[in-house]
Amino acid sequence: MFDPYSVALPAVADLSPYQPGKPQEELKRELGLDRVIKLASNENPLGCSPKALAVLKQPVDLARYPDGNAYQLKQALAQKLNINSDQLTIGNGSSEVLELLVKAFVTARDKVVISQHSFALYYLAAQAVNADICIVPASHWQHDLKQMSSLANDAKLVFIANPNNPTGSYHSLDSIRVFLNSLPESVLVVIDEAYIEYVTEDGSALSLLNEFPNLVITRTFSKVYGLAGLRIGYCVSSAQIADLLNRVRLPFNANTQAQNAAIAALFDQEFIDQSIKLNLQQKQVIYDGFERLRLDFIESQGNFVSVQVGDELGVYQSMLAQGIIVRPIGNYQMPGWLRFTIGLEQENQQALAALSKAI
Ligand SMILES: *Cc1c(COP(=O)(O)O)cnc(C)c1O
Repeated sequence: MFDPYSVALPAVADLSPYQPGKPQEELKRELGLDRVIKLASNENPLGCSPKALAVLKQPVDLARYPDGNAYQLKQALAQKLNINSDQLTIGNGSSEVLELLVKAFVTARDKVVISQHSFALYYLAAQAVNADICIVPASHWQHDLKQMSSLANDAKLVFIANPNNPTGSYHSLDSIRVFLNSLPESVLVVIDEAYIEYVTEDGSALSLLNEFPNLVITRTFSKVYGLAGLRIGYCVSSAQIADLLNRVRLPFNANTQAQNAAIAALFDQEFIDQSIKLNLQQKQVIYDGFERLRLDFIESQGNFVSVQVGDELGVYQSMLAQGIIVRPIGNYQMPGWLRFTIGLEQENQQALAALSKAI
């Protein structure tokens, strides 16, 4: 008998797959409801830019392959970010870019350093190539950059999520600079800025790229830009790193519609500002709600807040039964915690009411 599990790479056979938030349609089917509220995947509750939507309604020649080099999108990003277009790598979501980095640089037994309570894909991508994964305990729900630096001296690659998902913690530009200075240039440092647009403090590590040739910054159109369904993200690095990533990526990894919509979304500052403003206001609503319920939560620089509820699976199930999807994060070594994406006012109120009933 053919047993694929005994033939597969042991590192792959041992993997547990990424657990996404429960899809809305699935809960609708299960409960026979027309409407459910999903606050489980850090999506933009306002949808996407109307300008991106208008672009998507224009006909494109679907019989043709996309521009594999994403020329127009790279030009747009280069202009917006004030970088050269040859510093960019476009991916099928930034998840793909994270995987490309591992594919291009990490082999079995190379050391990869990540933080406890950090984004699951770093671990999954490194585990798939049987890397030597070093998980550094977090400190007060934050990456312990000092510890990470002392353990990463002989590493191939370090992943830093800034802000981090699911804790929402953020490290200032200064502390990132200190971290980068503390490492040899042989260590690739990947800073995942999926939520950087929401940060109210000093901002992106992009300004450090010229100082540090070993720095890579990943970004996405899935969060504030509201294009998670199109799958498009990118990274900014030295031109040399971009050249290497380009060698391992699939030729047409970003589709035509995604490239076109991303360009429109990038320049719709009004929509971005509106999204950030809503997030800030509603974050306070969520904080206040958790405080009223006397629940511990972690202050967040992202569009989500994690909260300690005790029996997280029980509370999660009870909220599901009330038509509300949030995210249990026991698999992030945070048993007892749920992560709430910040939604529209009405959605947050309903989620808080459901939570109150559930606990
Ligand atoms: C959502 C998220 C991403 C982005 O994923 P995409 O593949 O671009 O949709 C990357 N990193 C973190 C930490 C995230 O939470």
